[in-house]
Amino acid sequence: MNSLVAAYPSWRRVLEILPPNVVVVDDEGVICHVAESVAELTRHTSEELRGLDVRSWAPTWHLDARDVTSDARKVLATRLLDRHAIDLKDRDAQRRAVDAFFLPLALEGKAWIVAAMFDGEALRHESAREVREREVESRLHAAGVVAELEERFRHAFDDNMAPMMMTDLDDCILAVNNAFCQMIGWTREELMGRDSTSFTYPEDLGISEVTHHRLTSEEVSQARYTKRYLHKDGRVVIVEISKSTARDVRGNKLYFVISERDVTEERMLSAQLSHQALHDPLTGLANRAVFEDRLSLAHARVRRLGGLGAVLLIDLDDFKGVNDMHGHLVGDQLLKDIAERLEQETRSSDTLCRFGGDEFLYLAEGLNSSDEAEFLALRLLEVLAKPMTIAATQLEVHASIGVVIWDGDTVDHSEIVRNADSAMYEAKRRGKGHHVVFTPSLQQQAVSRFALTQELRHALSVGQLTMHYQPILDLATLKVVGFEALMRWQHPERGAVPPNVFITLAEQSSLILELGILALRESVTAASQWTPADPHAAPPFVTVNLSSRQFRDPELVPSIVASLMESGLDPERLVIEITESTTLLDIAETLSVIEQLNRLGIGIALDDFGTGYSSLSYLTLLRPKIIKIDQSFVSPPHPNVQNDTLLETIVSLGQKLNMTVLAEGIETEPQLQRLRELGCHLGQGYLFTPAVPQEEALRLVGQTMATEKKASSFSKK
Ligand code: C2E
Ligand code: CA
Ligand code: CA
Repeated sequence: MNSLVAAYPSWRRVLEILPPNVVVVDDEGVICHVAESVAELTRHTSEELRGLDVRSWAPTWHLDARDVTSDARKVLATRLLDRHAIDLKDRDAQRRAVDAFFLPLALEGKAWIVAAMFDGEALRHESAREVREREVESRLHAAGVVAELEERFRHAFDDNMAPMMMTDLDDCILAVNNAFCQMIGWTREELMGRDSTSFTYPEDLGISEVTHHRLTSEEVSQARYTKRYLHKDGRVVIVEISKSTARDVRGNKLYFVISERDVTEERMLSAQLSHQALHDPLTGLANRAVFEDRLSLAHARVRRLGGLGAVLLIDLDDFKGVNDMHGHLVGDQLLKDIAERLEQETRSSDTLCRFGGDEFLYLAEGLNSSDEAEFLALRLLEVLAKPMTIAATQLEVHASIGVVIWDGDTVDHSEIVRNADSAMYEAKRRGKGHHVVFTPSLQQQAVSRFALTQELRHALSVGQLTMHYQPILDLATLKVVGFEALMRWQHPERGAVPPNVFITLAEQSSLILELGILALRESVTAASQWTPADPHAAPPFVTVNLSSRQFRDPELVPSIVASLMESGLDPERLVIEITESTTLLDIAETLSVIEQLNRLGIGIALDDFGTGYSSLSYLTLLRPKIIKIDQSFVSPPHPNVQNDTLLETIVSLGQKLNMTVLAEGIETEPQLQRLRELGCHLGQGYLFTPAVPQEEALRLVGQTMATEKKASSFSKK
């Protein structure tokens, strides 16, 4: 092969077009190619001349490629096609005049000068010369065009954004471009002459082989495939490859042109996106979509293979409290830790997912008996009940679990989740930290819950809801100093529906807002009528319970103001009862509402104190006027020393913080005695009386209440 072509392949096609008698000189003035016929003019061989400085052979050579060819386009514009007479030195240093036609070229990123040379003597005849000149001229011109094309192609290849490679029919690399080198971290020199196996991901070697075989043996001339490379630094690069066969005019295969696209990031991103679509970003657990898919698969399997499946709906008890008390970061970490704990308990055949918020779903397959599902529920409850430490805070979290066990006969799998929900609801109702297995009667309850809501709506509109008032006594004097307003629903067929039932129902819809307004208006109006016989005695206050939902209602404060105005009640006589869970929803919002109420002169009572999370910190934040000690401390089912100490602590805490302490649910004389000893200010309970209608309340205003007889009759109820 021509040595010029060997070093610079682009020269191949240019030389084919140039006139035969040419000399090629590079940008350093070195002779790179001499036609044998030209060498013979000076009685040299081309071998002897190659590598020489051109001026040592052609002393009058006047062109320097560097001067004229810095830019390929400029070169063509200033192409020197004129004939020049120059001298060449022959073997004996004799000068010999020749005619030369010059063509500067840019090829392979270098500048060159081509000179076509003729024996001056041979062009004696004017006409012969003209013919000769025109032929040379057109050949040089064509070569210039081809060189430009070659150069453009080389640029297009070298500087192409797409990684490209050319290989011979054995897949050995002939050329690679810059983008390719960059993509896999190897230099052009390192890659030349190799095949791609050295940087192909081992598992993907087969892919290359198969396509190579198809391209060489079959009549396809293009193949597209994806494979992985190993970057020099060891990371994996995923590439989309388009490999095509270059052929000559007769259709013979010459080499392969391979264009590639680095799709690593794209693939990673789409993998990430599909992971995101299927997973909960916080805990990394599968999400609802995955769960539903797995459930329908599991369902189909159970139908085919028999056995039982179970769905456990795990709902954390009072997670909101943790979240708002300790901040979202702690809340999030808690969810992550819980997810981790649950995951450790998840068998490989089962699926755990986060169902949203603080709900998790566990799908168990291949169970032999319903006992297995219950054991599983118990184990999960046990695992969750272990205290956790997050950001130096010790948290104790419990959960309620609704369990649904199903077999191949169960048809509707969305019903499975609904039933798990009913069972979970029942578990919560039974007092948290429990599990309940779904039974059809629970479904009945779910249905009746719905019916009851409808009836409650009706009750509200026809005035079946009324307020009763439970006296609050000064424990030192046993005088009635206030009343707690409690709502009553006298259902025409069902009888009295407990507020725990209908308030909870109402809280699940905006019905609670209407109920709340009713309670406020009625209580405030009732209180405005409570006037003690003794004109020096202070008229009693009324405490009204508020649901958390009402606290977020922008109409709350305006509607309280309106009720106060209508009734003329002194705002100082109104106390709003809130529970810790109300305040936990959004502490900033709660505080701002409380501040508005305080400014109006309305006090706050913190209800059910002692049952929440953070009793102490809340006290200092909310600064309630009254602390209501929860009944579970006042009349514990199994009195013990520990409980008594707690009671004592709460009372003295209230005293220290200058808050009025009120004991709820006093049922027995000894409980009353103990509270008096501790110095608890106020109390209410069946020992004195349950809530009574307004007519009765009016009678009790300013009264001193007897206890002894009633103690036994009420506590038996
Ligand atoms: P709560 O605010 O803790 O109300 C005290 C509950 O304890 C009342 O139950 C009351 O009748 C009961 N109770 C009073 N003394 C004793 C006692 O000595 N022993 C026992 N075992 N219980 C006693 P009730 O009226 O059934 O109300 C239950 C819950 O319903 C209330 O708990 C309150 O959270 C809610 N509620 C009642 N009325 C309203 C209302 O108008 N609005 C709102 N948002 N919630 C209300
Ligand atoms: Ca209350
Ligand atoms: Ca209470």
